[in-house]
Amino acid sequence: MSRIAIELPTLQNWTCHNCGGCCKQHAIFITDEERERIESQGWDSDQIGASQKDLVIEERSLTGKRTLRLAQEADGSCVFLDEKGLCRIHGKFGEPAKPLACRIYPYAFHPKGDTVAVSLRFSCPSVTENRGTPVRRQKKEIREIAELVVPEKATKFPAPAVIKRTKLHWDETLSIVNAIDQTLANDGASVGVKVLRALSWLDLIAQTNFQNIRGERIDELLEILTTAIEEELQELPELENPSSLAMKQFRLLAGQYARKDTFASADRSFKGRWKQLRAAFRLTSGSGLTPAFGNELGEVPFSTLEKSFGPLPEESEELLTRYFRVKVQGLHFCGPAFYNMSVVEGFQSLAIVLPTTLWIARWRASTNGRDQICHEDVREALQIVDHQHGYSEALGTWGARKRVSTLAQMGQIPKLIAWALK
Ligand code: SF4
Repeated sequence: MSRIAIELPTLQNWTCHNCGGCCKQHAIFITDEERERIESQGWDSDQIGASQKDLVIEERSLTGKRTLRLAQEADGSCVFLDEKGLCRIHGKFGEPAKPLACRIYPYAFHPKGDTVAVSLRFSCPSVTENRGTPVRRQKKEIREIAELVVPEKATKFPAPAVIKRTKLHWDETLSIVNAIDQTLANDGASVGVKVLRALSWLDLIAQTNFQNIRGERIDELLEILTTAIEEELQELPELENPSSLAMKQFRLLAGQYARKDTFASADRSFKGRWKQLRAAFRLTSGSGLTPAFGNELGEVPFSTLEKSFGPLPEESEELLTRYFRVKVQGLHFCGPAFYNMSVVEGFQSLAIVLPTTLWIARWRASTNGRDQICHEDVREALQIVDHQHGYSEALGTWGARKRVSTLAQMGQIPKLIAWALK
């Protein structure tokens, strides 16, 4: 294979600190080849203390696709995770013997014109904490991983649509993506203002007739729009609260993010499904108590989560700005990386991560008896949210997409952001 050109995020550090988190929260899907390799390694479930006989589980996904995954214990831990929190396969046979999904995590690779953009998953605590070596200094290692997974034809992929049914050339699409990144990079403004600015000029892009405006004229348009909106929006605007219909849609979406099911912990029995349905009813009504999702997000009054939980901690500003920039630079918010959404629709979904994260942070603080959020609440909430963003099948369904487009059409996304940052 010829060497792939990769593009790394500019402001992210990462080194694995062996917390074992990914081995507890993600279902590890494997290929038939990997199954054969693992089975030939001679593992015995009794010897490794696994609670189940089969170490590889074959089943059907929600969409009916046949899948193979490593078995998990009741708490979601991979059966190959040892008592010290380390991978048994890695320990006995070395890193290359592990399934590809484990070797890649937390990296994600997406076609970006004639390069492949590298993004990271913020479900990994070392990513959210920005711990380790700058990613841009790990080019050689990351390219080796990329070469294992990126198909040779990756640079032939078409650019994602800019808006539904409007496809531009890669350089034109990337001008828009780079302009989003520049809007987010502006250091003088808060993360809320930066996201609102990007949403605001993307709204105008969505109304542009690209039959007449192409090539360099797109750059001129972007320059005019971004400058005008930067001057107009200097601080968080005083917006009225989101409507009750918007709050209902938002709670259903946010509830989907908060549900940190792993394949093993998801209860598919009648009782489990009934519990899910009751949780959805509670999220729709928004009155009484929230459903409980694990120990971190307990039953608290919905009304509590509507109140202000104090200003966004300063460190959280940095974390959230870095999050949005890594996702945008890595094209981790549209196209094949994000349910094939257009740039505009994908950014609207990404923008909803902000109020969702802060709502879950309030929920966590409230569960712990606090009425102010701290940076740890925001960090943990972002880990929960990014675990699902772009990876949960439920968030890619027609219903979830409709919720985002309804919120966007009703002009409610900026109101949700302003409300969450109050
Ligand atoms: S969650 Fe991140 S830091 Fe923890 S073991 Fe996985 S890759 Fe390493």
